[in-house]
Amino acid sequence: MEAPLQQLHSKIWEEQGIALWVKREDLLHPTISGNKWRKLKYNLQEAKRLQHDTLLTFGGAYSNHIAAVAAAGQEFGFKTIGIIRGEEHLPLNPTLSFATTAGMELHYTSREAYRQKTDPVYLAQLAEQFANPYIIPEGGTNALAVKGCTEIVSDISIEYDYICCASGTGGTIAGIIAGLEGEKQVLGFPALKGGEFLREEIEQLIQSYSGQRYDNWQLITDYHFGGYAKVKPELLGFMRGFQQEHNLPLEPVYTGKMFYSLIDLIQEGYFPKGSRIVAVHTGGLQGNAGFKERLGIAL
Ligand SMILES: *Cc1c(COP(=O)(O)O)cnc(C)c1O
Repeated sequence: MEAPLQQLHSKIWEEQGIALWVKREDLLHPTISGNKWRKLKYNLQEAKRLQHDTLLTFGGAYSNHIAAVAAAGQEFGFKTIGIIRGEEHLPLNPTLSFATTAGMELHYTSREAYRQKTDPVYLAQLAEQFANPYIIPEGGTNALAVKGCTEIVSDISIEYDYICCASGTGGTIAGIIAGLEGEKQVLGFPALKGGEFLREEIEQLIQSYSGQRYDNWQLITDYHFGGYAKVKPELLGFMRGFQQEHNLPLEPVYTGKMFYSLIDLIQEGYFPKGSRIVAVHTGGLQGNAGFKERLGIAL
């Protein structure tokens, strides 16, 4: 499978001699979105190899990962169980409604219990309760996910200097860095507040995959817009203009913020003249239906 590269044109960067492409991972698969497909690919193979018939994973009520696992289970013949943070709200939001329609069984858990999601004792309990499912961590991030995300870069056929990517758990950028093996510069745009905590996790993920350490990457932590699920009018305004100008759908949690920050960096003169930049569109567009419902606005 291949995700196309779309070149974006604007005076903002072209006057500075900078070229910008978007790697449209959002187009990889209609329902297993972008980086979530990359992260699931080898996990699905492993689950089959180990003869599991059920996938179990964790996520919030609007999680792109929950939607992706539900769709993957349906397409590849696994039962799916979603451990959802917080209480049930009816009617189901668009993400959870999609997941149940794809066959996922939802189990709600208190925020306290949810925090144990990596605790081996809790995981052993879940394994027993649900008849030995293949357990995928929150956000889909593990060493096999990192392996899958190395293919984001092996898939790029043009010359470039920088690659940009939004980050949540750091699995995607870890795969990009590992795949580049020290070549080029990688910029990560954390969607959460205080993204610096991610640095160490990304280093560990790269280690767990390849045993290597690399220095050709950096996290841009200035523009979080107040964290994960908050949407500021300034960001929405930017997204509207950008989507229209470039015919490129965005969502406000990851890709909208990444492009906002990237354009800012370009305008500040961060990139030397002649730079060629690839920005990865990690997908996540399924989340827009939930924002539309909550905010009463189209994105
Ligand atoms: C999950 C997700 C991310 C974050 O990926 P990580 O591997 O957790 O860093 C980025 N963008 C989108 C659209 C996502 O759905």
